[in-house]
Amino acid sequence: MRGKGVEIVVSKGRFDTVELAACSEKSVKWFVPDTDADAVTQCYGALELKTMLKELFRHSTQKTPSISFIEPSEETRVPELRIILQRQKNVKVKNDEGYSIRAGKEGKIRTITITAGTRKGILNGVYRYLEELGMRWTSPEQPQAVWPERVILWKKGMHIHESPCFELRGYYGENTCNTPEKPLAWMARNRMNFGGPGLERPEFAKKLGLLLVGGGHVFEKIFDPDRKIKGEKKLYDTRPEWFAFRNGKRERARGHVCISNPDAMNFLLDNAVSIIVSEAKNIDAYRFWPPDVWHSWCECKDCTRNGNDADRYLCLVHELRKRLDAEYEKGKIDHRIILFFIIYEGSGIYPPPTRPFPRGFDMEMNQMEVWPINRCYVHRQADPQCREFNKHYWDDMKCWLKVFKGKKIMGEYYNVSQYRDTATVFSRVMFDDVRDYAEAQWEKAMGEEK
Ligand SMILES: [Zn+2]
Ligand SMILES: [Zn+2]
Repeated sequence: MRGKGVEIVVSKGRFDTVELAACSEKSVKWFVPDTDADAVTQCYGALELKTMLKELFRHSTQKTPSISFIEPSEETRVPELRIILQRQKNVKVKNDEGYSIRAGKEGKIRTITITAGTRKGILNGVYRYLEELGMRWTSPEQPQAVWPERVILWKKGMHIHESPCFELRGYYGENTCNTPEKPLAWMARNRMNFGGPGLERPEFAKKLGLLLVGGGHVFEKIFDPDRKIKGEKKLYDTRPEWFAFRNGKRERARGHVCISNPDAMNFLLDNAVSIIVSEAKNIDAYRFWPPDVWHSWCECKDCTRNGNDADRYLCLVHELRKRLDAEYEKGKIDHRIILFFIIYEGSGIYPPPTRPFPRGFDMEMNQMEVWPINRCYVHRQADPQCREFNKHYWDDMKCWLKVFKGKKIMGEYYNVSQYRDTATVFSRVMFDDVRDYAEAQWEKAMGEEK
């Protein structure tokens, strides 16, 4: 490399140094607008850039240039290359995680300008630029399998202008090590924004632009028949009529509620609200999932009069939404929390609702997760050939998409389904599925039978 090194231009906000800003995630606010939080993520991106550039050069045949940080206003010397991280409101990308990377010149100085509308867009742009130079993050432990011989930081005419096709891109896996930072950093480097062990390091995950998701099969926790009420009697023994009616009796089954009983429903929702409010400082979204017990819902007369299991579930979700929003209005929580409802056989929910959605159902803040656990991986989910396994999933899904116009999350159990597969990467079927799901985002595609 000729000249006098590389300068990375980044704003460090109120912090003394870029390095300090990059590790100050605990001192800023993540759930309400905070310009210092933006500085933390952007400086972290700048530091990642510097570290990875050094790694790239160290493995190449070239000498590592000096790399320094400067503030946008301060132009002290004439570097060989200036890499500018720049937030801009009206950058023309499809969504707020998109970025533009452009090679240019300022007088004699070569420049790479990474522009985005948000801090996460900047971070994505940094990693995308590093990818362009040959950097890869194949696993949390191993950053790279093959190193490029030469690192070409600037190419005339280079212009990358991209936005992610999917709003949420996530990964879940067992976190068996005591360093959840590693998988989280790996996710961010691969431009994901959802899932992983984020709740174990909430501020770190927020710095990386990851959405924090709490909850799960919470009905089980709240409606545990052995749960002691007021420190005395067990829930089922005090209130058997709150539990699901099946085979002629009220079952002592975990999580299954007779929701046509108003007291039972209030018990479920009041408990859910208080759990969510107490966890709100660390979550963006909450999974309000029924129990994972592979039963259908209560079969009492009053419940069955209220539609199928999905109809009843959606009413509960709608009711919880209203109660949560009321907490926000009262100032008990400082941000609105997304609710995820699940389409999953283990919770008794797969066939679509038979009735219209509850009036006023929030199609933005309530979002749908679909987890087809018994599907076949020889075929893509939408493959009409797979009559035994996948057809019913895809048929149900198409019906759901016709009636639910909000955001949908497609969950997949590649490798960890009912079949407990060995560690085979289903790259072909994953590729096909992802393409099908991208198409299915558009109503037009779902309207026509494939
Ligand atoms: Zn019932
Ligand atoms: Zn199949």
